[in-house]
Amino acid sequence: MNLNTYEYWTKSEFTARRYLLGFCWKSHQRFCPKCRHRKNYHLANGKRRCARCGYTFHDFSHRWISHNCRLSCRDWLRVIKLFELEISTRKIAQQLDITYNTIYKAVTTLRVTILAHADDAHSLLNGEIEMDESYFGGRRKGNRGRGAAGKVPVFGILERNGRVSVEAVPNVKAETVLGLTVKKVRRGSIVYTDKYSIYDTLIFCGYRHLQVDHGKHFAMGKVYINGLEGFWSYAKERLIKRHGISPERFPLYLKELEFRYNHRHEDIYQILAKYLCDFVPDLS
Ligand SMILES: [Zn+2]
Repeated sequence: MNLNTYEYWTKSEFTARRYLLGFCWKSHQRFCPKCRHRKNYHLANGKRRCARCGYTFHDFSHRWISHNCRLSCRDWLRVIKLFELEISTRKIAQQLDITYNTIYKAVTTLRVTILAHADDAHSLLNGEIEMDESYFGGRRKGNRGRGAAGKVPVFGILERNGRVSVEAVPNVKAETVLGLTVKKVRRGSIVYTDKYSIYDTLIFCGYRHLQVDHGKHFAMGKVYINGLEGFWSYAKERLIKRHGISPERFPLYLKELEFRYNHRHEDIYQILAKYLCDFVPDLS
């Protein structure tokens, strides 16, 4: 969303609310978030009551937008804009003059919705695939590269000219890597990796496997994994700016980077606003 459109929707709380409601209720038809029944009664306080189960709800009930923190619709749109522009949580709080804790919750909510959509496509990666692992975290001394102590191994799969899928893994043993590959990559795809032995078994699982020998020549025709190496530097450059990410939160950041990369040609703002208006799962 460009700034002109953004300014239009953030003119007032009313317009901002209208923008977000557009993602919540198709053709303005309200239904009960609990039982999905369409008939409901208006209450004096602006809420509605389900005619079937008697559940009372408002326009944003049980959606991410009202799940974890109380922000006006206008402030939500502002948070999304600043998040889209990769402004830090602390700076967003300063800019909006809202407490750090509230903004932290809001930004975490955005990241959780991204995580909830991470396997959205459900379509397997296919065609020409690059695969590689990389190590993240810590500025600790010690080995660099494979097996570096205290670092989190991340396994990456990239569809050339397409999507990327990254996952923090407990280890980089052959069975771990193979398990993820089978889950995410269509059989028969051409898989490019480097000469690390964990990839040797790919050929037995129905993949065409080609190995890059970094030692000999960096890129030999189509046999390279430069796409994924590009993603690693993209991700690391961003993570360095957010110094000190706890290991528990790391997968959340990783999925955010995957999301930004995979939607790099789309309107991230609109996608996030839509995610935010989703129902929180496991409603019962
Ligand atoms: Zn109901």
